[in-house]
Amino acid sequence: MFLRELQKPLLQLKGVGPAAVSGFQKLQISTIAQLLLHYPRDYEDHKTIAPLPSTGMELYGFPGVKKLKAGRLQTGSIQVNTIAEVTSHSYFGLRKKRTLKVSVKDSSGTGELLCFGRNFLAQKLIPGNKYYLYGTFQYNYGELQSSAFEVEHFGNEPENFGKILPVYSLAGNLTQGIVRRAVKQALREFGKYLEDELPQALIVENKLLKKQTAIQNIHFPESMEKLETSRLTLIYEELLYLQLIVLRRAFRRQSQKRPKRNFSDLLQRKLIQRLPYTLTPDQEKTLIEIMKDISSTKPMARLLQGDVGSGKTLVAFLASLPFVEAGIQAAFMAPTELLARQHAENGMKLLEPLGIKIAFLTGNVENRGRTFVLEALAAGDINLVIGTHALFTEAVRFKNLGLVIVDEQHRFGVLQRLNLMSKGDLPDLLLMTATPIPRTLALTAFGDLDISTIKTMPPGRKPVKTHLAVMGKEEKVYTWVRNELQKGRQAYFVYPLIEQSEKMSLKDAESMYEHLKTEIFPDFSIGLIHSRKPEEEIETTMGNFITGELKILVATTVVEVGVDVPNATCMVIEHAERFGLSALHQLRGRIGRGEHQSYAFLVYGTSLTEEAKQRLKVMKESNDGFYIANEDLKIRGPGEIIGTRQSGFFNL
Ligand code: ADP
Ligand code: MG
Repeated sequence: MFLRELQKPLLQLKGVGPAAVSGFQKLQISTIAQLLLHYPRDYEDHKTIAPLPSTGMELYGFPGVKKLKAGRLQTGSIQVNTIAEVTSHSYFGLRKKRTLKVSVKDSSGTGELLCFGRNFLAQKLIPGNKYYLYGTFQYNYGELQSSAFEVEHFGNEPENFGKILPVYSLAGNLTQGIVRRAVKQALREFGKYLEDELPQALIVENKLLKKQTAIQNIHFPESMEKLETSRLTLIYEELLYLQLIVLRRAFRRQSQKRPKRNFSDLLQRKLIQRLPYTLTPDQEKTLIEIMKDISSTKPMARLLQGDVGSGKTLVAFLASLPFVEAGIQAAFMAPTELLARQHAENGMKLLEPLGIKIAFLTGNVENRGRTFVLEALAAGDINLVIGTHALFTEAVRFKNLGLVIVDEQHRFGVLQRLNLMSKGDLPDLLLMTATPIPRTLALTAFGDLDISTIKTMPPGRKPVKTHLAVMGKEEKVYTWVRNELQKGRQAYFVYPLIEQSEKMSLKDAESMYEHLKTEIFPDFSIGLIHSRKPEEEIETTMGNFITGELKILVATTVVEVGVDVPNATCMVIEHAERFGLSALHQLRGRIGRGEHQSYAFLVYGTSLTEEAKQRLKVMKESNDGFYIANEDLKIRGPGEIIGTRQSGFFNL
């Protein structure tokens, strides 16, 4: 049978009890197929032997040692996987904090196991005995130490040693052990029945694995090489399906003829007249291309590329007007709640005076309002609905959906987009992006796609000036920002983390909000938003920043896409080295949207990777989104860009 046909409930697996089932439910895993499709997010290599490094090596460019700084050795960590003998026990710390330290040695070196909260290991780790040891070690106080280690008795058949182990995303009360056992059991009971979905010829031609081998090895790889081929096999299969789906749509779209439509541009002209500015030449050109598409007998499939701030949203609104005028509905989908709300507010300002009925729909719109919107949509009483991915959920029905607009389209999966499309009868499709897609990828994802590009920026824009500053010198940056604030301008401060993390010593939004508020800018009003704040609070804070009541907005990357506050002229990104190029460019795109000169400050930490250095250099060099996207492609390669993006255009 095919993997996806394994619809048996998890509970039927030996050893999976109701407690585990509730954890799996949080991961939306309820069948055996879903369990086997829950691929590991990482692996632990308990197979490759990595002995304890011999003493003294730390002085000679040992891989774990980063640099000698101010006479103190600063180390990174190294992974050890070896067979070690326990040599002695000792204790450090007092009373409650008294902690067991187990000294070990293997054929090449020695190390110390720090048993925080695990003093019971004194009974298990007997001096003179040998153990399989897997752990992360660091040089501290002149010795090699580990507090994150696992041991197994040497001699008996080890459970982990000698294997490559999967590391899964967890939820609820799940542990790696529970998931590993469940997957192992599922593979044992069903693995051998899995049939290939790919035709034999394709498997041979591309040197892929049989499906059952691939699934077995993606979870419990025999070797790193086998893991890689398994990954390739599974990606190949997904990609093939994706292409087939996309091509089938494309063929259908191309073969489908509809009567030529006679759209009016009356509402369009009305809106353009009401605007306080004129369209840029590229906005006009794009609009003409769109008008031609939507009047033709073939549904539109157009990708509108334009750098951040180039005025794509307005083009989208204008594109929806002929539909509205003809009594056809349009849907406008944005990737975040914040952005969707902003578009909705914008739309209401621009379009409601023209008599257009607009609704706002996200997962968060509370129940009564929601039912009302859903009914009105189904009855055709709403002309334009703006929302998040909530727009393509089951409950949403349209009377006659004729235009689908997707903003920041690279943030959505292909299937999500197709889902929204299927709510209408071959609707016209307008995709927008500030992240240009390489042409070959565009072809893969869409089959047929026309592309419009907005290159000219609205007039009067001054290019953002970008400054780099090393951490420790941020005083200067703050002074500059203060100067801008005093002129009446506003500023963003962006941080990589929401709150303090024990794992990483990075500045975070919560603590920096307090710091900036009490120590640096006590005389300016300051707000904080991040994804863990309640929706109403984000809304109020954002509203207050837009009206200028708040002068400073501290945030995480939630402000990355779309947010439009022309009076904001400063963007301070701390730990800029932690952000990818497209995120940096998007963040910088939040400023430089008005008549005033704007400034971006990229504050970076001291230990920079080569890639991070390149990214900062590119940001300093250029304001051009197309150039930056290309450099990004060069630095990371297309595989990275496609592969790791959480909800990138391919989620394979
Ligand atoms: P994008 O989505 O392409 O990043 P937006 O649609 O958010 O850009 O537009 C950025 C800003 O430029 C908005 O405040 C918008 O009102 C304004 N704008 C759009 N078109 C023009 C124009 N032709 N002239 C002046 N300002 C414009
Ligand atoms: Mg936009």
